Amino acid sequence: MGDERTDLKGMPLGELESFFRSRGKERYRARQVSRWLYQRGAEEFSVMTDLSRGFREEMEAVCRISAPPAEKGEISLDGTEKVLFRLEDGEGVESVLIPEGSRRTLCVSTQAGCALSCAFCATGALGFRRNMTSAEIIHQACHAARRLAGRQERLTNVVFMGMGEPLENVREVSRAIDILLAPCGFGLAGKRVTVSTVGIIPAMRELASRYPVSFAVSLNAAGEEVRSRLMPVNRKYPLRELVAAMREIPLQSGRKVTAEYVLLAGVNDSPGEARDLARLLSGARIKVNLIPFNPHDHGDFRPPPPSSVDRFRDILMAAGIQTITRDRRGADIRAACGQLRGVPAHPREHGGLRSGATASSKKG
Ligand code: SF4
Repeated sequence: MGDERTDLKGMPLGELESFFRSRGKERYRARQVSRWLYQRGAEEFSVMTDLSRGFREEMEAVCRISAPPAEKGEISLDGTEKVLFRLEDGEGVESVLIPEGSRRTLCVSTQAGCALSCAFCATGALGFRRNMTSAEIIHQACHAARRLAGRQERLTNVVFMGMGEPLENVREVSRAIDILLAPCGFGLAGKRVTVSTVGIIPAMRELASRYPVSFAVSLNAAGEEVRSRLMPVNRKYPLRELVAAMREIPLQSGRKVTAEYVLLAGVNDSPGEARDLARLLSGARIKVNLIPFNPHDHGDFRPPPPSSVDRFRDILMAAGIQTITRDRRGADIRAACGQLRGVPAHPREHGGLRSGATASSKKG
């Protein structure tokens, strides 16, 4: 029989307050426990030493703190770390920690598998398994923060860009965002939390109205036909409507929405496509991230030659659109965009790894 005690992990402050109130406890207990869960990464009540022994024992009897084990970890030659978590029902999901200067950015998964079948994505090829709970989502951040604390570092940014489409799991993702932004949670500023989406327009609008988080929207084409071929979701939420919705996202001064664009040789990397994209985004507070395709086992796509990437970027820049080419962080351990799968890959494919061998998938 499973553990039927209430899992406190994944509860935002408001829910912790309701839980403690329902058990006749003082409201401030919620803040205390929240700090232990999310700032100190407590995985058992016995370590919460500023709470009385009686309170801790009472809590232990009725609640628990879930902590799915990290089964495998890999460190890329560029310092990117990938971790495979084994969830309670046996599903495997991955997160990726990316060091960059003083930033420590964690890319988290929100679904086991994904239903949206983007043609270039390894996660999409897995099919949909299930939505992750807020406990499972936030545990990835707790685990990373604990590892970083061990080397006197801290988690500075979180991107919802791992396995799955976060806006297909908006309820649990919202709870996780509540925890990331709360001062008694991770205390991150909204601009340090990014939701990456293929553009589920109603959910994007809802989240944008509730949280000051950043958005990265996967466009990957400048026209409806190519985008529908690459991303079937385009039939439901067409590119033109999506870009219109991106233009309406409320933004603080100096901030922009990011358009992600995976460049696929011979598919969407032509100068004509770049000019169409420049026209589509003209005048909008949108910047473009160009991501040369990362080869993986699924699909017949090829990465573009560096000259096409440069030409594409130059056309956008000439049109006044801020454009950066994202490097392939963690490509040697399949932690790069579109590569997360949550299943073991063949160890021989991972030269230069320090431990383990897993593969995975991420939004493009
Ligand atoms: S790119 Fe994102 S939305 Fe598309 S199949 Fe992959 S995980 Fe799903």
